[in-house]
Amino acid sequence: MKVLKFGGTSVASAKNIRLVKDIVAKSKTERIIVVVSALGGITDLLLNTARLASQQNSDYKSILKEIEERHLNTVKELIPVQSQSGILSKVKSELNTLETLLEGAFLIGEITPKLSDKIVSYGELLSSYIISKYFQEQGVSTSYADSRELIKTNDTNGKAVVNFDKTNTNCSTFVDQTDTQVLVMAGFIASSDNGNLTTLGRGGSDYTAAIVAAAVNANILEIWTDVSGMYTANPKLVKQAKAIPQISYEEAMELSHFGAKVLYPPTIQPVLSKGIPICIKNTFEPKKEGTLITKNKNINGRTVRGITHIENIALLSLEGPGMVGIPGISKRFFEELSTSDISVVLITQASSEHSICVGISIYDVEKAVSTVNRAFAYEMEREKIKPIIAEMDLAIVALVGDNMKKHQGLSGKMFSTLGKNNVNIRAIAQGASERNISAVVNKNDVKKALNALHEAFFEENIKQLNLFVMGVGNVGSKFIAQLRQQKKYLKEQLKLNVRIIGISNSRTMAFDDNGIDLNNWESILKNGLKADKTNFFDTVQELNYRNSIFVDNTASEEVAATYNTYLANSISVVTCNKIACSSEYSNYSALKELARIYNAPFLFETNVGAGLPIIDTLKHLVASGDEILKIQAVLSGSLNFVFNNFNDKTTFHDVVKKAQKEGYTEPDPKIDLSGIDVMRKILILARESGKQLEIDAIENQSFLPKESLETNNNTDFFASLKKYEAEFQKIYAAAAAKDSKLKYVARFEEGKASVGLQEIPKGHDFYNLEGSDNIVLFYTKRYPDQPMIIKGAGAGADVTASGIFADIVRIGNF
Ligand code: ADP
Ligand code: ASP
Ligand code: MG
Repeated sequence: MKVLKFGGTSVASAKNIRLVKDIVAKSKTERIIVVVSALGGITDLLLNTARLASQQNSDYKSILKEIEERHLNTVKELIPVQSQSGILSKVKSELNTLETLLEGAFLIGEITPKLSDKIVSYGELLSSYIISKYFQEQGVSTSYADSRELIKTNDTNGKAVVNFDKTNTNCSTFVDQTDTQVLVMAGFIASSDNGNLTTLGRGGSDYTAAIVAAAVNANILEIWTDVSGMYTANPKLVKQAKAIPQISYEEAMELSHFGAKVLYPPTIQPVLSKGIPICIKNTFEPKKEGTLITKNKNINGRTVRGITHIENIALLSLEGPGMVGIPGISKRFFEELSTSDISVVLITQASSEHSICVGISIYDVEKAVSTVNRAFAYEMEREKIKPIIAEMDLAIVALVGDNMKKHQGLSGKMFSTLGKNNVNIRAIAQGASERNISAVVNKNDVKKALNALHEAFFEENIKQLNLFVMGVGNVGSKFIAQLRQQKKYLKEQLKLNVRIIGISNSRTMAFDDNGIDLNNWESILKNGLKADKTNFFDTVQELNYRNSIFVDNTASEEVAATYNTYLANSISVVTCNKIACSSEYSNYSALKELARIYNAPFLFETNVGAGLPIIDTLKHLVASGDEILKIQAVLSGSLNFVFNNFNDKTTFHDVVKKAQKEGYTEPDPKIDLSGIDVMRKILILARESGKQLEIDAIENQSFLPKESLETNNNTDFFASLKKYEAEFQKIYAAAAAKDSKLKYVARFEEGKASVGLQEIPKGHDFYNLEGSDNIVLFYTKRYPDQPMIIKGAGAGADVTASGIFADIVRIGNF
């Protein structure tokens, strides 16, 4: 004999009920008890009608109509016309009684727990009746068992306590006296000895099925639902969650107690004592293996078996100086809660005994606050205990697993994962069974917390990075192209799942929770919303993804001014925009400080030498205790390009024009030619070496005539270059005469920085610098005579994009 329970979604419509019949009909000979829930959503609707009627709000009538239509339509779709009438009239007559009950509640303007149970029972009464009739119509040998007669409880409405002796006898006798292969009965509902209708609590049909399975010594209890088993986390919130093939009763119980709604917590108790296995299966994918729950302990398996959450939690804190050293306060506190029927989900007590903090359902808060304030009124009047504080809008996330007690470091990993993702932890508790570690967090952080923890404990190898990219010009579009090309490699080789969730240029912005399709981003962006930096940030914050990274590919001052808001929300920043790091020292250091406090990397490798690992190397030198004595560098790919191409057969004007056209200069070439860009770069290197330097303190020996420097637009600038061609030729000739080449050199030594054009003789490290190459010589304590040299292409969209890429991979490994 086996017991099969079908949940609300499994019986939500005629179509689904047909699937249920197919599953039941698979068993040709073995006897089956089928326990069913109300049609999906009906229980909520019934409770709604009851609430509205008791508030004398006649809107309950339209909901009642909806309830009626759902049931009548289900009958019409399932039962052939010729057999419908009897069934329809029975359903209508039940609905009439329901209507009378609601009218009563409406007239009195009140609803008692007893009446509420009575009203809500119609969900299961009707579903079980319709399903049994449908089975019979389909030729399945079926009888109907009335749960009100079989399942006996005390008189507590809402969540009655089962009288197992009577219930077991009733069930086994009924089964013995019935000879059909299938028995259909309602879940959730029962009755007391006094004949009052009772219910077993929300989600209680699972429990009914377990009670019956134990009573008749079934060989298995199958829970058929809308997911393929008990998962490592709620699959509706964590896409990466996986079904757990096998799990112990104790672990399953802990998971369900801590929020894995797929199994109603009391369900395990009756079957556990008889050793009856539970199998959780998916009505819509019956071939999937599902989860088998047995007494077998998880001996060598995973430490953490699942991650759960409980919503709608409030924290109550009782505190005050009068609590220290006075015995019995906690006892009184808990007694008060318990006599008011308030269940405590989580307890923490500071060792100072100054405060006790409990997590309860938000629906119990009002009652709890008034009860406790009343009970401690005497102490509160004398200011020994403060009036109770209730913090709302919280949730509990918990790690659950049998083997957790044997392992150290799990809570550390849990809290650092949450911390890295800016999930504020309000309270912590470790279950006495040591089978769970729970944290109370803000309800808005639940999805992020679950996903981050799931990644840390179940996808050790794969880390998801969620990018929000601003700027899709030369560099940005190259970056996206590289990401598209490398996505597979990153996932397979580096175990990084890098997705672009948001994207913006100065005109539009677009977001996609599942990651923007990188083959189609241009049209997605074009058809996006109007771009707005504040809205962009708000959306990033609202989406609240783990491992979020803001990527700035612009050269905009306004965008640079938003980094602090990202960092202060634990969102990492990767940027090729030099403005922030070369602004006032106070701003640069404030950003670095935010990055440190909020555990959010702030990386700007591409600010100097595009993709060359200059800043990263410098950081490593400093971190390992080395000291920077001197930096000599050619840091402008643009100026290098210009002076490598300029000679007596060209004109300076034409070479600069060409450099601009080929993307080697900033849109405003004066920023490069004047040396400002190089100043910014050496400033950043000096700062990264540990020097508190401002840009004004850098000496700039500019080679540009004063008039060129003073121009305000590109046209005037280029005109001035033409005008002073002779000057430029003179500079070239002087260098050529000495067999030297012209290089724009940046220096940093003894705390001072300077930039300027220099004649570089043959044999010097800088002499053979080709194209747009950059070179940096680091003279340090460990490299005093022979410097550490980094050299290579230092400008161009492709290499800059690859530098951004490298920063993102660095964050991935963070
Ligand atoms: P039924 O109506 O069949 O009783 P429930 O809605 O009560 O179904 O339970 C199934 C739901 O439980 C799933 O749809 C899923 O959203 C939720 N759930 C929460 N945690 C888990 C988990 N760890 N594994 C599987 N499902 C879970
Ligand atoms: N129908 C009830 C509920 O929704 C019982 C159940 O489905 O398990 O809570
Ligand atoms: Mg359920």
